[in-house]
Amino acid sequence: MDLQTKALHAGYTKDSQGTMAVPIYQTTAYEFRDVQHAADLFSLKELGNIYTRLNNPTTDVFEKRFAELEGGEAALATSSGMSAIFFAIANAAEAGDNIICARQLYGGSLTLSTHTLKRFGIEARFFNVHDTSSLESLIDDKTKVIFFESLTNPSIDVADIEVITKIANKHGILSVVDNTVATPVLCRPFEHGADIIVHSASKYTTGQGLAIGGILVERKNLIEKLKANPRYEQFNKPDASYHGLIYVDTNLPPYTLRARLSLLRDLGAVSSPFNSWLFIQGMETLSLRMREHSKNALELAHFLESHPKVKKVNYPGLQSNSNYKNAQKYFDNGACSGLLSFEVETFEEAAKIVNATKLYSLVVNIGDSKSIITHPASTTHQQLSKDELNACGVPAGLIRISCGLESIMDLIADMKQALEA
Ligand SMILES: *Cc1c(COP(=O)(O)O)cnc(C)c1O
Repeated sequence: MDLQTKALHAGYTKDSQGTMAVPIYQTTAYEFRDVQHAADLFSLKELGNIYTRLNNPTTDVFEKRFAELEGGEAALATSSGMSAIFFAIANAAEAGDNIICARQLYGGSLTLSTHTLKRFGIEARFFNVHDTSSLESLIDDKTKVIFFESLTNPSIDVADIEVITKIANKHGILSVVDNTVATPVLCRPFEHGADIIVHSASKYTTGQGLAIGGILVERKNLIEKLKANPRYEQFNKPDASYHGLIYVDTNLPPYTLRARLSLLRDLGAVSSPFNSWLFIQGMETLSLRMREHSKNALELAHFLESHPKVKKVNYPGLQSNSNYKNAQKYFDNGACSGLLSFEVETFEEAAKIVNATKLYSLVVNIGDSKSIITHPASTTHQQLSKDELNACGVPAGLIRISCGLESIMDLIADMKQALEA
């Protein structure tokens, strides 16, 4: 089935009422038939609902449907993109281990890996997504994850996914790909060798900036990689916190199962049924929206490239962009999502343009149907010096746009008046 058909139907069987829209199961807990039934659910002899911190029928549809879109086996919804990323890493690594991350990461992921994971005894090592030659030399027998973004936020680079997953596979290491900006509509990392995909559902999945959420997806047949793999004894040796369960022996997708039974159960970063329902609504139109976001962004990028005040435009759909080749290889029809950035001469000039736009909202979000503008040097990257800004690819005059679904004529006209104000 085509992705758009799955986005409307996958994972949902209508109840006895014939309910067309997926119902919101707004409940904390579920009644067991009798003591034996309860015992069977707790021992996984039978699968079913226990408590909404572990599972919920609305969230279940969201998880099954999203797994289908990515072409994965199973998924686990979480309360935010950050918790999905934390779960993806903490499921594989513990104190004394290390992970290898692309330098070009979302700000929150960068802080998580450099500072917060360090407090848990997990070391992060970094490689440049444009130069994977040093990647292999960072690996040792304590390396548990290679983590990168398919389309990076905010630097807007496209990873050479196959080169990275090949190195991970050679060493039996799990690769984790953040596919938030590309979405499964434009890019499917499992087809290029990835093991785990994570998303912030707060962006294109909800699509209208309605809710914070995240999801972790496991590829098909991951069990083969984990079985007898000395790096991942937590999956192939008995789990003392779950009466000696051996995850790879359960015949259930082991990565999401362990993330659910240990991390979600104990840390509690669960998606609320209502938010899961909002994500289901968003998914129905995801592929239609991604086409329009990409089309608008490309036209806006062409306009900006032709404007004398603009020094440089970063959009992987432009032939002038260094990511163009990877974008053509990894993205459906070369469509590159709605994120772009451009550079003007100075900090002051950038601030003037941002203030002069009327249609673009000054917001630190992306993936909304409404267009968004941000000036990293005055907000997310405020603490950095001019040299530091240049080093991390965020010059003082850089403006980032999340191109929305307004008419492109209006978006260009507003940008033109702001540039010339
Ligand atoms: C927003 C974002 C996140 C974090 O997601 P939240 O839902 O805000 O926790 C992670 N990765 C990328 C690429 C993002 O854009």
